[in-house]
Amino acid sequence: MSRVLVAATGNRGKLGEIERLLDGFGWEIVAQSAFGVEPPPEDGLTFVENAIIKARHASRCTGRPALADDSGLVVDALGGAPGVHSARYAGPGGGDAANNEKLLRALAEVPEGERSARFECAVVWMQDPHDPVPFIARGTWTGRVLEAPRGANGFGYDPLFLDPATGRTAAELAPERKDALSHRGRALRALRAMLAP
Ligand code: IMP
Repeated sequence: MSRVLVAATGNRGKLGEIERLLDGFGWEIVAQSAFGVEPPPEDGLTFVENAIIKARHASRCTGRPALADDSGLVVDALGGAPGVHSARYAGPGGGDAANNEKLLRALAEVPEGERSARFECAVVWMQDPHDPVPFIARGTWTGRVLEAPRGANGFGYDPLFLDPATGRTAAELAPERKDALSHRGRALRALRAMLAP
């Protein structure tokens, strides 16, 4: 019988990827919303801090082990923005479309050769809210921001993020292909290796 791991996220795109990437690992992934858990304020300065805040909150509220992912897009020409503020770049309640529009506006004058960016992901696995040694892993995916969206898969900034190795945006990749290349895929494979060496 599988054990329950609480996913400390309300982002459906992220949740789907976490479920795929932890498939066969022996844990039933249940979103924190199923336990009535509301997201906590994310006031950390880093992806790692925010992932710890979210995992601890989910574990405290449910009394179960929890997994959090904090991630975002780091754009060199914008001094690292939107970074840890990626989800709410265009303001609270803005959503993916508004975030992508704001990103395109911010980069309107930036030529193709200077649009380098990377997705960052930190994942934290916390056994209980007092766990003094949570498992932490990270992953990076390097690419660049296009001048117009392409593709219909994925979520967030996927339609604007070009993977140079395939020449496709993250939204043009099949889900399994994105998992193989992505920041989240790398972070969760590293976490799996730590937990079950
Ligand atoms: P978080 O829920 O605070 O970690 O915010 C994550 C935000 O970063 C998402 O809402 C997206 O805007 C962006 N993001 C993170 N990972 C991805 C991805 O794989 N594709 C596209 N956008 C992503």
